[in-house]
Amino acid sequence: MLIGIPKEIKTMENRVSMTPGAVETLVRRGHAVIVEKGAGLGSGLSDDEYVAAGARMVSADEAWAAEMVIKVKEPIASEYKYLRDDLLLFTYLHLAADKKLTDALLKAGTTGIAYETVQLPDGSLPLLTPMSEVAGRMAAQEGALHLEKPKGGRGILLGGVPGVAPANVMVMGGGVVGTNAAKIAAGMGARVTIFDVNHARLQYLDDIFGSRVTTITSTEPNIRAAVTQADLVVGAVLIPGAKAPNLITRGMLSTMKEGSVIVDVAVDQGGCVETIKPTTHTDPTYVVDGVVHYGVANMPGAVPRTSTFALVNQTLPYALLLADKGLDALGVNNSLKLGLNTMKGRLTCAAVGEAFGIDT
Ligand code: NAD
Repeated sequence: MLIGIPKEIKTMENRVSMTPGAVETLVRRGHAVIVEKGAGLGSGLSDDEYVAAGARMVSADEAWAAEMVIKVKEPIASEYKYLRDDLLLFTYLHLAADKKLTDALLKAGTTGIAYETVQLPDGSLPLLTPMSEVAGRMAAQEGALHLEKPKGGRGILLGGVPGVAPANVMVMGGGVVGTNAAKIAAGMGARVTIFDVNHARLQYLDDIFGSRVTTITSTEPNIRAAVTQADLVVGAVLIPGAKAPNLITRGMLSTMKEGSVIVDVAVDQGGCVETIKPTTHTDPTYVVDGVVHYGVANMPGAVPRTSTFALVNQTLPYALLLADKGLDALGVNNSLKLGLNTMKGRLTCAAVGEAFGIDT
């Protein structure tokens, strides 16, 4: 199959959908890969590395003319002109939040397979997990940074020093983001408490972390008591398909320490802190009632090289299957079939259909 890798053109997007190593794997399997010139530069991957891996460097128009186009972000308006009925597009689509793109894909008859709806039998989302891992680890790092005085924080070191107590870190939600945030915060020496409503998850976290973290059932009284002692709060809650619940209310802020920090990773689902709003890497924080709020909605964007490799590790097996078998791959892999969002002008993903009131 002829596979195209366009350069990402969405603002501040520096990831690329295939690394040279992944290209080499596809080429060895007998596929041809064309990569837009400069596509990997944002992730520190040169055109020469792609050529050495067997790719041909081309223009955007040529890359988009391939049989299958693999991307990172959903096509933006200036890319709609490339959509066509014999195109297989494999990328993050997030259609429920983007009616214009949905209409463009349906009008063009493009087959769109969305990373975010590929689902394993246990319900997990393997192509979202790597970005949650990155964001979770970054949350502890960003929290530590913003606790520094010049950044507006309380001026404390997350891990303390001999003779001085470390910071108290509250992690709201012990899923992928929360577990990764807890791991780094505990690794830096902080006192970490994870809150979750899922008891089986708390048992698992208790087993893997042992005495390095405390687990607490996420109830309003437990949160209200703990928040007064917190130096850093990480928001990492997810209720699939719903807005995140407001676990930290506006009223609780006034009970928090001056200069404490909230990193609400769940901001992309509305956040689990009542006062959180989306921010950007260029201006990541603001202060409410003396509490520093960090609400960057695309945290992995700050570490594009790590994020690119993490994403491609997970997408490559599916890309190989699609390249080898074309759409027959959907018949042999149900997880991939769940990724199918649009085909021949029809919406094929129930959750997206529900968002727009369209039958699938
Ligand atoms: P996940 O499903 O792995 O974990 C969510 C956890 O929240 C689960 O363990 C669940 O039991 C728990 N939970 C649900 N209700 C709760 C409550 N009331 N109190 C405490 N815990 C509760 O999800 P994830 O992959 O860890 O993602 C978490 C959030 O981070 C999502 O909103 C995701 O979109 C977001 N995210 C943001 C970025 C970013 O750059 N800002 C990047 C990746 C992921």
